[in-house]
Amino acid sequence: RFITFEGGEGAGKSTQIRRLAESLRGRGIELAMTREPGGSPGAEALREVLLSGGAKPYGPFAETVLFFAARDDHLSQTIRPALARGQWVLCDRFVDSTRAYQGVLGNIAPEMIRTLERVVVADTRPDLTLILDLPAVEGLKRARARGGAADRFESEGLAFHERLRQAFLAIAEAEPARCAVVDAARDVEAVAGEVLRVVTERLAL
Ligand code: C5P
Repeated sequence: RFITFEGGEGAGKSTQIRRLAESLRGRGIELAMTREPGGSPGAEALREVLLSGGAKPYGPFAETVLFFAARDDHLSQTIRPALARGQWVLCDRFVDSTRAYQGVLGNIAPEMIRTLERVVVADTRPDLTLILDLPAVEGLKRARARGGAADRFESEGLAFHERLRQAFLAIAEAEPARCAVVDAARDVEAVAGEVLRVVTERLAL
């Protein structure tokens, strides 16, 4: 089973992924937790390049290709081996982030992304994608409160973050069999409960 988590800045993906991992492990399920960009030594090195210092060192096309280069390494070094061992894979961001960030916000044509996806992801598609949804204003507030290394888009305005939100919601609408939208504006416990419910239901646990 391959489950991905998606959402804008401050949606709480990393907290929720940890919570789901605990619940699933408690049921005896063996799993690997991973993230993008990154998740393998080669891809983590590209993450450094892509996200360092909050600056955007590349234009949108070079950036898209680098995200897919990182993803290719991540898939071959981490995701596919884990799935082959029979483990579940929980991944923080995957291709939907590229569709939203590089596609919708970076203006990279959807056909270009689809082509790269076909080549790189091939048939290693997520069984389930949880889209953690919350109003842009709330996500920004959380991302800023979190402090630490600033996300690349934290300085962008509300309109930018709202477009990002709509991009994820459009993906969910286009692929309802794979995607589930979770209201992430609630407290951690409520969201964790909803995530577990969706996973249990959709993956017939
Ligand atoms: O998952 P997290 O929110 O920590 O993401 C790290 C950073 O990478 C974020 O600023 C996110 O917006 C950015 N990102 C991106 N394009 C992707 C995936 C992540 O710009 N395809």
